[in-house]
Amino acid sequence: MAWDFETEPEFQTELDWMDAFVREEVEPLDFVLGSPYDIHNPKNQKIVPKLQGEVRKRGLWACHLGPELGGQGYGQLKLALMNEILGRSHFAPIVFGCQAPDTGNAEILAHFGTPEHKEKYLQPLLNGEIVSCYSMTEPHGGADPKVFTTRAELDGDEWVINGQKWFSSNARYASFLIVMVVTDPDAPPYERMSMFIVPKDTPGVEIIRNVGLITESEGHHAYIRYNNVRIPRNHLLGERGQGFAVAQTRLGGGRIHHAMRTVGQVKKAFDQMCERALSRTTQGEVLANKQMVQEKIADSWIEIEQFRLLVMQTAWRIDKYKDYRKVRKDIAAIKVMLPKVFYDVASRALQLHGSLGVSEEMPFSNQVIDALRLGIVDGPTEVHKVTVARQVLRDYKPAEGLFPSGHLPALREQAIQKYGELLELEVSSF
Ligand SMILES: Cc1cc2nc3c(=O)[nH]c(=O)nc-3n(C[C@H](O)[C@H](O)[C@H](O)COP(=O)(O)OP(=O)(O)OC[C@H]3O[C@@H](n4cnc5c(N)ncnc54)[C@H](O)[C@@H]3O)c2cc1C
Repeated sequence: MAWDFETEPEFQTELDWMDAFVREEVEPLDFVLGSPYDIHNPKNQKIVPKLQGEVRKRGLWACHLGPELGGQGYGQLKLALMNEILGRSHFAPIVFGCQAPDTGNAEILAHFGTPEHKEKYLQPLLNGEIVSCYSMTEPHGGADPKVFTTRAELDGDEWVINGQKWFSSNARYASFLIVMVVTDPDAPPYERMSMFIVPKDTPGVEIIRNVGLITESEGHHAYIRYNNVRIPRNHLLGERGQGFAVAQTRLGGGRIHHAMRTVGQVKKAFDQMCERALSRTTQGEVLANKQMVQEKIADSWIEIEQFRLLVMQTAWRIDKYKDYRKVRKDIAAIKVMLPKVFYDVASRALQLHGSLGVSEEMPFSNQVIDALRLGIVDGPTEVHKVTVARQVLRDYKPAEGLFPSGHLPALREQAIQKYGELLELEVSSF
């Protein structure tokens, strides 16, 4: 038997250190600094590199990476436990060198970059000296990449890119963009696109505007126009026409890391809900005594535990199979679950805090919107439900006859044929 839900004591020591470090040193940054990705901002520079140094000294820097890229090679299960802690603060991932979308972009560069790309883009990214952007979604459609129209055409030794991208997060701070572009419009739909590195300062990269979420004080999601952007021929990542396959390298890992961090965020909302239930009195007793409040707490706890276990099991499967294709269903399932659990728990926490809960003085309204955001980013919930259902149905086949294989009269008949004589039963007629 190898089902074990315990953490090794040595690793628990690291988690305990992280927990205290994030709580005391990192969480306060969310209140006093702007974007974690604005790494060259003098205010960020005053604090973040020092904290990153402490993480490095502790050997916890960029733990999503294998040792060949300077990480610990901890694997996804340990990473899940770490990300639960990091999920509590916007700044924690950057302090620990494991922030999206840089993690996924680094994976692409590690797999498909040339030695020159690795030196120029991957290494500084891993060192935390630069940040990057993933530019795929287009204004007229994101959930269906088959409708993308941004084109790259070869002109001598250069690719020339023209088109528009939408919601390219953190482009304003990025040194380079990884861009998915149509190179072969006449090929079958999943072989039309290719992936490129585009240095942000290349002439023709025009940020039309930075779109903001209602929860952000300024916009971070770039609406970009690529106007005759010329990049060297070897800035193609992977094979021509294999953009979808290259994208899968980053999306699997990216989605589970979102889920791991969400466990941390949801728990934070839940802790506040429980504290409130025990602190606030109405009609002569604490909220915690009211059965409808108890229901909120019980439902939330059960949902969080289910979600966390599915995240952990998926992480364990990734470590076991080392192949994201074998865990597509699991990753899609947690991608569906994460916005729902977050939304449900954050809205219950908001409700129990009454007027204070809905005000700007508590984090719950932001969390509710954040949950909705997570139901869209990296593909909407509906698309992931389709993936789960399709994958599940692969393990089934249609019934052979007119009636289902679970049709009770037939099962009864088979049972009587098997044991009828022994039990002296009569075969029924249909
Ligand atoms: C905060 C944030 C950050 C993002 N960052 C990036 C980034 O860095 N880089 C990047 O390239 N993109 C990014 N995106 C874009 C994101 O990937 C897309 O928003 C997402 O894929 C959905 O595309 P869309 O917005 O065009 O919606 P659409 O494709 O127009 O879909 C709209 C809605 O239609 C419904 N729908 C869509 N498909 C189906 C279906 N098959 N079945 C049933 N219903 C369906 C869903 O309800 C969906 O929400 C980001 C988005 C957000 C919100």
